[in-house]
Amino acid sequence: MKDIRLSVLPHEYVSDELRRHVINRRDSGTFLLIGEDALPYAFAFARALLCESPVEGDACGSCPTCKKTRKILHADLVWIVPSGKVESIKKEKETGPEGMALLMEKWASAFRKNPFLRYEDWAAELKIKNLHLPVANLRYAIEQIHYRQYETLRKAIIIWGADLMGTGGNIMLKTLEEPPKDKFIILVARNKSNILPTIRSRSIIVTFPPLSEEQLITFLSSQMDISPEEAVTVSEWGRGSISLTLSLIKENSRIAKGRAIELWNIINQKGPEWQLWINASTEKVDSIATVKEIVKWILTTVDPQFSHLGPKHLRVLSQPQPLKEIIALVEDALYSLNRNVNPKLTLHYLLNRLHEVYKKYVDN
Ligand SMILES: [Zn+2]
Repeated sequence: MKDIRLSVLPHEYVSDELRRHVINRRDSGTFLLIGEDALPYAFAFARALLCESPVEGDACGSCPTCKKTRKILHADLVWIVPSGKVESIKKEKETGPEGMALLMEKWASAFRKNPFLRYEDWAAELKIKNLHLPVANLRYAIEQIHYRQYETLRKAIIIWGADLMGTGGNIMLKTLEEPPKDKFIILVARNKSNILPTIRSRSIIVTFPPLSEEQLITFLSSQMDISPEEAVTVSEWGRGSISLTLSLIKENSRIAKGRAIELWNIINQKGPEWQLWINASTEKVDSIATVKEIVKWILTTVDPQFSHLGPKHLRVLSQPQPLKEIIALVEDALYSLNRNVNPKLTLHYLLNRLHEVYKKYVDN
């Protein structure tokens, strides 16, 4: 996503609600966005609040402020993000302004890559196991809220991890209750249950109903560079959440890439090991449906996304002739399966023939 604004995000109901808050021109406010997909909304909402000439409650996208906020980091759009436990931060450098600047740089790069970032992704980025929002970060948030804005008329503070504060969050109560004029606090959480009731009661709460499969498919294919075919396949997995679906796609592609390496390395093998592997693989197969899945999957490994398989693999797959033969073999196998030919035999035959094609072109 290039330009994250309320009008391009898929939860229309939530976007409309947030846009109404921008239109009403409140003096200040504390909001609490709860849901798997809440993070980019907090950002889009902050941009709309700071925009110099909002359009129907959304950021205009073209004023000088919008151009700056688009780059994620802006002096009047403050991010407070979770990190490790304070005890684990040994060096003074990491807690001081220099450490904060480094953290923000890392944050901006991660958020730019995936605005639907989950706690797990951020923890992996920081190379830590458990995320916390330590009291030190909250103190910094309070300081920022009371400090004047630099460039714009208003200031927005996004606090990601309202469900990671623990009782430390109590130090924020007074500030959340009544933020200073022109200051907006946007708390973001994944789960309602881990947020202090005292914080909930001081916030305007916005929740995210799950998206329909159709909404998920439209958004993933139009905004997130995912092909419509893949969007259709993955839309069932993510329980109506973009961030969950994206993380499953990433996981799935990691596993698929690993399996593809295994498959083609073996197809490329010579000698008796090849037959042993083929027997072991087909041993476990018992239904036509399973074999169909495997055969369809073999076809997907021909895709350029598997370029990590190495030059040998690419040499075969970049030539029209072997590619044609591989596709024909896969199609034949599917044809047989549709006519109830024994699935074990079909797979055995297909793998053997692929091995031959590979051998023919790699050896030449
Ligand atoms: Zn603007």
